[in-house]
Amino acid sequence: MKVLVAVKRVVDSGIKVRVKPDGIDLQGVKMTINPFCEIAVEEAVRLKEKKLIAEIVAVTIGPKQGAESLRHALALGADKAIHVTTEARIDQAVQPLDVANILAKLVERDNYNLVLMGKQSIDDDFNQTGQMLAGLLDWPQATFASNIQITDGIAQVVREIDGGLQTVKFKLPGVITCDLRLNQPRFASVPNIMKAKSKPLETIPLDKLGKLHNSIQITKTEAPAIRKGGAIVENVDVLIQKLRNEAKLF
Ligand code: AMP
Repeated sequence: MKVLVAVKRVVDSGIKVRVKPDGIDLQGVKMTINPFCEIAVEEAVRLKEKKLIAEIVAVTIGPKQGAESLRHALALGADKAIHVTTEARIDQAVQPLDVANILAKLVERDNYNLVLMGKQSIDDDFNQTGQMLAGLLDWPQATFASNIQITDGIAQVVREIDGGLQTVKFKLPGVITCDLRLNQPRFASVPNIMKAKSKPLETIPLDKLGKLHNSIQITKTEAPAIRKGGAIVENVDVLIQKLRNEAKLF
C-alpha cells in the first residue's frame, strides 16, 4: 500500500510576523513544515512501522526552498519525495483548488491508496485542500483525525468534532486530514537527517501538472487591532462600578 503525504512549508509558528498591506513579510523569516503536515508524516511512518503500508511519498508544491520541508519528511521516515516547483507565493497564489488539482494528478499517475494531509495550513488557514482533493478523486474522506486504524483495507478514523469524537470508517482509497492530537511527531535523528540527503527527490515544474488559477484575490491584509492594556482596580466595588459604567455590562 502506497501513501502520499502532502506537506506545506509555512512561517514558523513561533515567529511574530510583520504584516504588510500586501501580505506577511517573508523576508528573512524562519520557515518550517506546517505542524499538521508533520503530524501527517509521523502518522504515515507509524503505519509503516506497523507494516500496514509499504511506501511513503512526501509531496510539496512551492518554491525551491520547499525542498527543506521534503528533506525533513524524509528524515522523519518518508521513502521518497516529489517537489512540484513554482515561484508563486504559496500563502497567496497557490490556492486549495490548485493544490488539490495537482495532488489529484499525482494520485492518478502513481496510484496511491491513501493521501494523508494536515487539517489546515497555519499560514492561510483555509482547511479546504483535503476536502477538495477527496471531491476531485471521488474518494471518501475523514477530516480532523485524532486516531487512525487500518485493517484489511478499511480505515477507521476518530474525528474531533464540536463537543466530542466521531468514529467513521471507509474502504480505501481515501483522504485523511490530521488533527493536533493524532500523535506527537518524533525528532529527526542526525543519522536520519544524513540518510535523508540521499533519498530520491523528484522535481516537477508545476506547469507540467496544472496551472494556478488565482481564483481568490487578497485585497488587504491587516494586523489585529492592538489590545488596550489592562488595569488593576482597588476593590470589588470599583470593579462593579467600572463594569456597569465603563464596560456597560449591566
Ligand atoms: P489548507 O487547505 O490550505 O488549510 O491546507 C490543508 C493541507 O493541504 C495542508 O496541511 C497540506 O497537507 C496540504 N497543502 C496545502 N497547500 C500545500 C502545498 N503548497 N504543498 C503541499 N501540500 C499542501
